[in-house]
Amino acid sequence: NRLADKSLLPAAGLIAGEWRAAAASGKQFNVTNPATGAVIATLPDMGAAETAEAIDAAHAAQVEWAARTGKERAGILRKLHDLMVAHADDLATIITAEMGKPWAEARGEVLYGASYVEWFGEEAKRVYGETIPGHQRDKRLMVIRQPVGVVGAITPWNFPNAMLARKMAPALAVGCAMVAKPAEQTPLSALALAVLAERAGLPLALLSVITGTDGPAIGKELCYNPKIRKITFTGSTEVGRILMRQGADQIKKMSMELGGNAPFIVFNDADLDAAVEGALIAKFRNNGQTCVCANRIYVQAGVYDAFADKLAAAVAKLQTGDGFAEGVVLGPLVDGDALAKVEAHVADACAQGASVLTGGKGLGGLFYAPTVLKGATPAMRLAREETFGPVAPLFRFDTVEEVIRLANDTEFGLASYFYARDIAQVYRVAEALEYGMVGINTGLISTEVAPFGGIKQSGQGREGSHHGIDDYLETKYLCLGGV
Ligand code: ADP
Repeated sequence: NRLADKSLLPAAGLIAGEWRAAAASGKQFNVTNPATGAVIATLPDMGAAETAEAIDAAHAAQVEWAARTGKERAGILRKLHDLMVAHADDLATIITAEMGKPWAEARGEVLYGASYVEWFGEEAKRVYGETIPGHQRDKRLMVIRQPVGVVGAITPWNFPNAMLARKMAPALAVGCAMVAKPAEQTPLSALALAVLAERAGLPLALLSVITGTDGPAIGKELCYNPKIRKITFTGSTEVGRILMRQGADQIKKMSMELGGNAPFIVFNDADLDAAVEGALIAKFRNNGQTCVCANRIYVQAGVYDAFADKLAAAVAKLQTGDGFAEGVVLGPLVDGDALAKVEAHVADACAQGASVLTGGKGLGGLFYAPTVLKGATPAMRLAREETFGPVAPLFRFDTVEEVIRLANDTEFGLASYFYARDIAQVYRVAEALEYGMVGINTGLISTEVAPFGGIKQSGQGREGSHHGIDDYLETKYLCLGGV
């Protein structure tokens, strides 16, 4: 155990303001390190019963929390931000241990997560309403904005700290309470955040963390319990659909950050070295396991071979291994299913004529060599489905019209990227891409000051920026007569 502060790892869930080491079911589950297979924690396997209790307590506590001033809530979020930064090393260690990403990258995730806590704490003071000139002489019209109430949050394993931070920060900032269910692979980062929230002075019933393996049961309680007013989810489109169906009965509000199938386009006039550098980040960050990872790389015919050679040479240098080892930039895949999908996508592509420029094979355990494939075509699985692993397939194209059509030919619409220098073309392509986010001459777009989110089947709602606060607010119109 490398933690300086061991109390960041409670062997308990946090329900209704209480740390609980045992589940109603009496069951437990293990959290393992994907790099080694070692068990790093054993937690109570909680379910619908604990979820319902957490919701009741959150519902009761939320009224007083909403009555506080924005500045009071901001003060607690400020302290939480500072604690996250102060404990960044330990929080990074927890991330690397439970999901495998290299420690330096994990530390970056912690600071990224903390930046949302800082940003939304600041925004807590700026939840402005509006006055509207009356439509009759004796009328005064006002618009106020109020917290939606108790929010259910379901988060994935790929950013176990930041995905929760960027949901709980806006929720708490505006006066909501939250019942959170982290992914079963990575509950420890969520628990550590809750420990720090408690130290920052957050009334504990406002934030429950359900540790459990039965996602469907916990999800049903969150969707069908009338005290939950909103669900915020980051994960697969498949599970997002289930949650939206379940929430339909009660017209539950939904924020959904779902899957992507990001195109990364390199035009003939691009700065090729910059494009290679951007592709390394957009494709291989987090070992290809982010929803904004480039999934399809389209390269214009004039630079196709040159780009392929440069990218393959750069990728061959990336070192894969245990995230705690020196010099490692790519960790393991998160589990056996993730590895199997990567292997299947590469096998399918090769069977249909793709050639391996580098990688293309497993390295033992859950490790897979970073891979560049030449000769990718739209018929291949990796053109339609998110690979979520370290595989860069290169598609050749000739014209702008062709690549726009190919890039938009997917039900997803989260992130997209392109490299070009002609300014008119930059505008035209940026406007034509059917995506919630477009990286232009950059492979890294995420920041707390900008609205992150997708269109089409990649989701709805935005996280970050002043737009991100809207997801947690209701608009109320007051009409005052007889003035
Ligand atoms: P991933 O492919 O990233 O694991 P998932 O969408 O399967 O994405 O998981 C994201 C989160 O959704 C996890 O916390 C998981 O436990 C949870 N989850 C999975 N199935 C359901 C479900 N039916 N209802 C609610 N949550 C679910």
